[in-house]
Amino acid sequence: MLESVLIANRGEIACRIIRTAQRLGMRTIAVHSEADAGALFVQMADEAHLIGPAPARDSYLRIDRIINVAKRTGAASIHPGYGFLSERAEFAEACAGAGIVFVGPPASAINAMGLKDAAKALVQQAGVPVVPGYHGAQQEPDFLRLKADEIGYPVLIKAVAGGGGKGMKRVERAADFEAALESAQREAASAFGDPRVLVEKYVLSPRHIEIQVFADRHGNVVHLFERDCSLQRRHQKVIEEAPAPGMTPEMRAVMGKAAVEAARAVGYVGAGTVEFIADGREGLRSDRFYFMEMNTRLQVEHPVTEAITGLDLVELQFRVASGEVLPFGQGDLGIDGHAVEARLYAEDPEKEFLPSTGKLWALDFPEHEGLRVDTGVQAGDEVTPFYDPMIAKVIAHAPTRGEALEKLAEALGQTLVAGPKTNVAFLKKLCEAPQFGAGQFDTGFIDRNLDALGAVPHGVDAEAVRLGVLKLIDMELDARGYHALMRNGSASSPWDEQDGFQLGGAREQGLPVDVDGERIDVAVQWPVPGDAHTDEELVVSWGGKASGMVSDYLSSDMRGLVPTEEGVIVVRAGRQTRVSPYDPFNVDLEHLNGSNAVKAPMHGKLVALFVKPGERVGKGQRLAIVEAMKMEHALVAPADGEVEEIAAEPGMQVAEGARLIVLKMEE
Ligand code: ADP
Repeated sequence: MLESVLIANRGEIACRIIRTAQRLGMRTIAVHSEADAGALFVQMADEAHLIGPAPARDSYLRIDRIINVAKRTGAASIHPGYGFLSERAEFAEACAGAGIVFVGPPASAINAMGLKDAAKALVQQAGVPVVPGYHGAQQEPDFLRLKADEIGYPVLIKAVAGGGGKGMKRVERAADFEAALESAQREAASAFGDPRVLVEKYVLSPRHIEIQVFADRHGNVVHLFERDCSLQRRHQKVIEEAPAPGMTPEMRAVMGKAAVEAARAVGYVGAGTVEFIADGREGLRSDRFYFMEMNTRLQVEHPVTEAITGLDLVELQFRVASGEVLPFGQGDLGIDGHAVEARLYAEDPEKEFLPSTGKLWALDFPEHEGLRVDTGVQAGDEVTPFYDPMIAKVIAHAPTRGEALEKLAEALGQTLVAGPKTNVAFLKKLCEAPQFGAGQFDTGFIDRNLDALGAVPHGVDAEAVRLGVLKLIDMELDARGYHALMRNGSASSPWDEQDGFQLGGAREQGLPVDVDGERIDVAVQWPVPGDAHTDEELVVSWGGKASGMVSDYLSSDMRGLVPTEEGVIVVRAGRQTRVSPYDPFNVDLEHLNGSNAVKAPMHGKLVALFVKPGERVGKGQRLAIVEAMKMEHALVAPADGEVEEIAAEPGMQVAEGARLIVLKMEE
């Protein structure tokens, strides 16, 4: 076995690789950015080395610095994880040049599969079915539109260098082609430094089914069955499972063979995934699946394959990289039960899944048999805007699909995250969705069911407000030693400086609190000091009542009441409500004079501006585009009005909450 490994990655995948490497007795070397100095993977590794500032291009993408650390520390191998440098042929070459084993395929295989157009042509020659479309060199808009007409709508525009669903646009009709092409090219240029696209037929009722392959250096190639990754949003995977619902042994054999052929065609070595799109209009059929691309690395969703095969894919990667022969043949492999993985993200389903950042005030996962949680963060860590906002992967394994889904839903219900908004409640609803449970779904399932899945703005959670206020009062009383004072009947209110609120006099009082940035006035009924029966009993009313002995009431639901610097985060059914004492000096003055500021939803770059000062705009009209985390977010007018001021120009970096455009609203 290799003596040591440098992990050229971060977060959960770095942790996951370190775990296996340490079990195999390898020395583990982490490299990290300044932002990750205190990260879990840095703590877990045997040694850790700083390679640069937070932005990935200055740290995790710096081949020179990473190779330097590897040389200095005498690393025997480098594992690239997924993302970052994992599919960069220069990196594999740089490792080889430095005499370090690259845990991955040869650079030639990465190159062959690196661009979607060339890869399609190559596997087509090997007899693998591909999606009909144009994947040639011509890029003129008029030419591509003609090709789209020939292919027939709907079509899909894809970045040739694409990945992670970026630079991909579905187009329904010719009239929309040009705008979609422009946007795809812009996204592709910014995400991959290559604006080229291909156009292909949009497969109907599409199911994303991929095959895990493994090859050694001795010519042996096997497949480890399929994964179904059809539950997607914006072409990004949300829930993955193995095996695929509705898969027949016959189709599995045909797809497995096609995947092995694709791997052989490029002289593949190590772990790889061949992605297919299947036309699911009449269920899965072995003559209706098409090659999309091959990912020449470990895949995010590899744990579901590990669960059903009982294999450790990272261990196999190390074995193959060190020159060992694959320890099994195709006939030795079998499927045990069913596994489902959910990707827990720091994002807000109520705000179109906008990534959410900030401190993780609480993070807690259940532990059950058949449940696996892969994470790279712990309570107290910060989710920063620099990297992918995934918090964890939660994987359930059980004898049947139904049981696995049930187990996953239960685990998500028991997961506590406070701080950044998350998709945990949304994931739970997905696992419980009857149609998904019945195996009736395709890649459009999530988009068609956003309402039912709760991914729409909700009103204020009144019970959370009441609980939050009880907790705030409890915290405030505690901080000032009021619990003791109240027993003596000599306490005054915690908010008395602001509101002149008196405990001794009135029994009921209005108390202003800040709930997710909005002022809400709750009514609080205070106990009669010194009365033995009602001692410390508070009643908080707002759209209902919550009452009880403060400490008793709270202890019953303690886990979901998370104190923060400003106040408390109340977590109910996975949904977070921030409640803090109202601060009269922290109000948004923009609304008061009939103006309305359109603000940057997060840290990012202003990439397009569609309006000028003095221009009239209608409610919902697109005003500008901010690019953040390599996705484009459109800013729209909140109401009819006139552009009063523009405070930024395209190309500028903008901070979260920055005023970009001020509108004068109509009366
Ligand atoms: P990326 O490399 O950006 O992840 P892929 O080529 O893997 O892009 O495609 C991502 C997703 O987009 C697929 O999982 C599938 O849901 C959808 N998709 C891709 N090609 C097609 C197609 N021709 N028809 C329908 N959906 C497609």
